[in-house]
Amino acid sequence: MKVDFYTSKREYEEHKQEFDNAVISVMQEGISTLGKEVTDFEKSIEEFTGAKHAIAVASGTDALILTSDILGFENGKEVITSPFTFLASTSCITRRGGKPVFVDIDEETFNIDANKIEEKVTKNTVGIVPIHLFSQMADMDKIMDIAGKHNLRVLEDAAEGFGMRWKGNGSEYKHSGTIGDFGIFSFFPTKTLGGFGDGGMIVTNNDELARLARMYRVHGASKKYHYEHIGYNSRLDTIQAAILQVKMKYIKESIKKREIVANWYFDRLKDCQELKFATLKGEQNPVYYVFNILTEKRDELGEYLKKNQIQFSIYYPIPLHLQRCFSYLGYKKGDFPVAESICERILALPIYPQITEAEVDFVCETIKSFFK
Ligand SMILES: *Cc1c(COP(=O)(O)O)cnc(C)c1O
Repeated sequence: MKVDFYTSKREYEEHKQEFDNAVISVMQEGISTLGKEVTDFEKSIEEFTGAKHAIAVASGTDALILTSDILGFENGKEVITSPFTFLASTSCITRRGGKPVFVDIDEETFNIDANKIEEKVTKNTVGIVPIHLFSQMADMDKIMDIAGKHNLRVLEDAAEGFGMRWKGNGSEYKHSGTIGDFGIFSFFPTKTLGGFGDGGMIVTNNDELARLARMYRVHGASKKYHYEHIGYNSRLDTIQAAILQVKMKYIKESIKKREIVANWYFDRLKDCQELKFATLKGEQNPVYYVFNILTEKRDELGEYLKKNQIQFSIYYPIPLHLQRCFSYLGYKKGDFPVAESICERILALPIYPQITEAEVDFVCETIKSFFK
């Protein structure tokens, strides 16, 4: 049996008529950048996440770049973040000369170890970029405490965090991205809320930050041809917005399905001594965007899965402090032992709402036969 890591085809078939109508109606209405579909979609995101403002942009990467600029991550100012993430979480800090300062991750959650943040705060520190990876949010209670104490800006990279909600010691659940000064989501196709191409969203509860984000998305213009800042051309495409709006109708169901699939994996693999899983920490509602296993024999298992036509992914094979593009920061192997060790042992299994129980069975049987 061939098992895809992800395919958009099944979901398209499920709601074919609605997707077709959404795309065709944008074309029938005539071209309109940042059209009604974009505004409608922004409203849906505000409603779903509880954010006061949602500003749609061209990608999650752009959302990080615009917000980093606005928050003043520049000119040698230090921003504390995790080395175990996708490149874009850190490259955004460096665009205008900000300096990423890495902190190792929690061995059990794979998110930034919030207990190690405060010792890295200096008089040059201006911000923290926590990343909500795979299935759960970073410890936002501790992060917001430190930020408050040292007057730091918090940019939540919630590219993978759509649907995740944090309660911690608070009184209510708050959606990822809505706790810090800014949060961002990615609508890259594989993401929990993915389009049929690129897309991203900035969320904030701050009116002034929202006003700036709307300006930065259109070259920093306050009105047409009046530029207050040097911004970008980064609009969410109207066709993508129309597609994403269809997917919003089914988002709760999709998130629930991911949980069901994750539980299939947990049930079938829990007795496999050679495997470890992430542990959920803090009062929060996880969303299973990625389902990871840890094993000492990661590369051999990967080869075996490939031979059996099971696709998988490695998030992430190399931590960012060891990437050549960041060598100027002066980090070396051994600086973040937890992140380095996880990079060698982690492997992501296929998970998406339309994967079947038979496929998950086959993946789990194959894994067990490898360890036999
Ligand atoms: C996907 C992702 C991004 C980038 O989003 P794009 O929409 O692909 O630009 C940023 N950060 C993390 C953690 C991601 O997983």
